[in-house]
Amino acid sequence: MWNLGTRDQIQPPSGRPRELVPVLLIWPFILSPFFLKMDAVECGSKYECLLFDMDDTLYPLSLGLNLACRLNIQDFMKHHLQIEESQVPHMCLELYREHGTTMAGLKALGFEFDNDEFHAYVHGRLPYENLKPDPVLRNLLLSMPQRKIIFTNADRAHAATVLGQLGLEDCFEGVICFETLNPPPEIHLEDSKQKLNIVCKPSLEAMEAAIKIANIDPKKTIFFDDSARNIAAAKEAGLNTVIVGSSNLVPGADVALSSIHNIKEALPAIWEGEDQSGRVLPSPTVETVVTA
Ligand SMILES: [Mg+2]
Repeated sequence: MWNLGTRDQIQPPSGRPRELVPVLLIWPFILSPFFLKMDAVECGSKYECLLFDMDDTLYPLSLGLNLACRLNIQDFMKHHLQIEESQVPHMCLELYREHGTTMAGLKALGFEFDNDEFHAYVHGRLPYENLKPDPVLRNLLLSMPQRKIIFTNADRAHAATVLGQLGLEDCFEGVICFETLNPPPEIHLEDSKQKLNIVCKPSLEAMEAAIKIANIDPKKTIFFDDSARNIAAAKEAGLNTVIVGSSNLVPGADVALSSIHNIKEALPAIWEGEDQSGRVLPSPTVETVVTA
């Protein structure tokens, strides 16, 4: 079990043998800023690690969390930042497109607000009840011999709630989330300018940070995400890529699959060690627009 103190400082292994750390002991630490690493599982596949986006990748966009989140962000911009109501929808979208998340864009513009307050506001009123336990996905994940890690722009509280609602909380070795890539100022090693620079997908900086934190070989890792721009960034970082929720191969995607549930049909190589690049499973194309 490795404990990573910051994005740039890898701590030595603790005394406990890595292979003996049970998942349920790891779980309480998963959503902390400290990310825990276990050894890659020896398996026949050419892949050693699977890196999953969470929102609109592990569950469908149609469940409404993305839309609700966007409306909450717009409410925050109106009521907490006093941005003129008529400007909010366009500004929300433009900041998302330019900075990766609307939150990152607001910070870059100089708006000052507490990160935890923002996340609590935009995630606190989401229709989490729409997320139901997914035993099919759970069994698929548990049958995969590779390391499995969540990589989300969301905060740890949201990640914990979503994974708990889906019944997947013990299916992953760890979660790389907002707090992982943006640690509190007291443990920052860089200068104060960092406070305004939110690190998030789809920046190459975020991709490379995640690769470093998880200590993975991108050539032996598959990245799953519903966002075309995140897929493009992941490919630039050297990862194998799967666009989820799309019937079309977007730029940078090696594989397209309509639903994460189709993963075994689309990527038997995870289980068998076969190369499945270029496979496409038919599905309606849906593009995620705005999340926090
Ligand atoms: Mg997503």
